[in-house]
Amino acid sequence: MKHIVLALFIGMTSISVQAQTYPDYTETYVNDFADLLPDADEERIRAKLKELREERDIEFTVVTIGLMSDYGYVGEIEPFATGLFNFWGVGNAERNDGVMMLVSRFDRKMRIEVGSVYGTAKNAPMQEIVDEAILPRFKRDNYVTGIESGVDAVIYDLTGSFPGEYDANLAQKVMNRGRNLLEWLGGWIFVILAPLLTLPLQAYRRWSRNKPRICPNDGTRMVRLDEGWDDKHLQKGQITEEELKSVDYDVWECPKCDHVTVEAYKAWFSRYSACRTCGYRTVEGETEILEAATTSSTGRKRIDYHCLNCDERWHVIKTIPRKSSSSSSSSGSFGGGSSSGGGASGSW
Ligand SMILES: [Zn+2]
Ligand SMILES: [Zn+2]
Repeated sequence: MKHIVLALFIGMTSISVQAQTYPDYTETYVNDFADLLPDADEERIRAKLKELREERDIEFTVVTIGLMSDYGYVGEIEPFATGLFNFWGVGNAERNDGVMMLVSRFDRKMRIEVGSVYGTAKNAPMQEIVDEAILPRFKRDNYVTGIESGVDAVIYDLTGSFPGEYDANLAQKVMNRGRNLLEWLGGWIFVILAPLLTLPLQAYRRWSRNKPRICPNDGTRMVRLDEGWDDKHLQKGQITEEELKSVDYDVWECPKCDHVTVEAYKAWFSRYSACRTCGYRTVEGETEILEAATTSSTGRKRIDYHCLNCDERWHVIKTIPRKSSSSSSSSGSFGGGSSSGGGASGSW
């Protein structure tokens, strides 16, 4: 009996080989899972990475782990680093310019992985940084200075400035700050200013719509017909437009010679669009999401159109743009960038 239990136990443990996973990040600057960095040092390095994000909009992240096998992985650090980089989506999704420094403490291996925009162009400079700035310090178990010197050197390679020295290019700094402010204000500016901007336009439109019309035949002041009255002067499509409130029509008539002019006023906002067949603004569209967009891929939607005037029906398939990730200066999540495996590694 004991033997059967033992056999069962051995059988179970051998089955439960861990599937490969990746750690989840707790923030986008420093994830010191291996506890290599004392708090004050970690904070100083974080400030440099944060400054790089604010000044140059580049996502550079530092990760330390104990062992790759903690995540069910056995092998070289390159595939693991590329996998983790893409799992987190480091860097801007359009530019793919993110950078990750991964240190696996007890494997004694590290890697600087770069976004796919660089291809292999950064392999040599990153190798130099690994060999000159990082590994000699790691060999003396000096992880703090190794990581920090590496961070400084990578930032210098990417931007031409060391941390804290971006001031050298003041114009760029002002532009970045201005752009961030505008992005932040964007929605609110529209909400606050839109009514103010359209008020004078609306006033002018009302005035010009109501001002007296003079008959071109005899100079008599024309009369505007009431709604309902004017339907006999309108086409079927125009009447449909009026019913849908997508276009409003005024009919002016000369009391003397019965000369008639018809004026069209498009609604400011209408959910009806123009028909490709009859041309009237009497088309309603119904959207169906075929595939939702994510931060890493575009989606597809189908729009079914139906003209309420001529009864024409058609549909189009449209691409839904990738979801934009949170704003550039946010530390909440990565931008959805990817790496094609560029960078450099080392062991000590
Ligand atoms: Zn007239
Ligand atoms: Zn139509």
